[in-house]
Amino acid sequence: MDATRVPRYAGPATFARLPRADEVSRPDVLVVGVPFDSGVSYRPGARFGPGHIRGASTLLRPYNPAQDVHPFGEQQVADAGDIAVNPFDITEAIATIAGASERLAEDGAALVTLGGDHTIALPILRTMRRLHGPIAVLHFDAHLDTWDTYFGAPYTHGTPFRRASEEGLLDLEHCQHMGIRGPLYAAEDLEDDRTLGFQIVRADDYEVDGIRGAVDRMRARLGDGPVYVSIDIDVLDPAHAPGTGTPEPGGLTSRELLNTLRGLRGLNVVGADVVEVAPAYDHAEITGVAAAHVAYELISILAANRR
Ligand code: MN
Ligand code: MN
Repeated sequence: MDATRVPRYAGPATFARLPRADEVSRPDVLVVGVPFDSGVSYRPGARFGPGHIRGASTLLRPYNPAQDVHPFGEQQVADAGDIAVNPFDITEAIATIAGASERLAEDGAALVTLGGDHTIALPILRTMRRLHGPIAVLHFDAHLDTWDTYFGAPYTHGTPFRRASEEGLLDLEHCQHMGIRGPLYAAEDLEDDRTLGFQIVRADDYEVDGIRGAVDRMRARLGDGPVYVSIDIDVLDPAHAPGTGTPEPGGLTSRELLNTLRGLRGLNVVGADVVEVAPAYDHAEITGVAAAHVAYELISILAANRR
């Protein structure tokens, strides 16, 4: 939509005022919301994330100078709306997300999913595994999300990557966490995490090695196979993303995160999500604007890699 004719705060309520999926014939990229937060362990509210990110995304402009790309002009991007899931039955919700994401992606569209809590990454990874084979997960988060159970529950926002590893969805030689920090339950958490297939660039490593050092390690680890990028917005410092369910101090700046994503140029990115945006704790749309720009940077990478 032309912002010189319709101001950016007017127009359709889709992501970046893009067309709806039913208005285009062959989408290259679909933005889809998953308003689900029944898997959270602390503050609830991420079910309202998709609408909040879409609301903040009206600020986005057509040309991304940082990547020299027109993310919406060089490929067909559309908004597929939300996947409606059961808030009372996590197992059913996971099955619904797996089925819906496969239907959306099976004709070749790359999915950029707006969460929702981190539970939703598991069913999407099941779809990615079916369509692309074992997946290298690039996971941005303060937290490992490879814990086993909470209160006996296997499917929560703190467990998706352990389940994914156990289910054989992951390429265990090429998975990478970015931005990990904060207290754990025990030192064994880190040993388990290694065994499950992950290496770690800590938030503090950015202080020592800079963005370039973090990007070099990330690219060396990911390799040439299919990469799925999962971004928990709490990878950002609470100063940059207060509106989230499990905040941890000492996180990345939004500049560090955006520049790290630009470092994905040329890698085989097959899909991505931005999760854990909880608008009830957001102030002045800080978190929503950050999440919208993170999605924009990812869509820009997909456009650049299409060339
Ligand atoms: Mn987290
Ligand atoms: Mn997470």
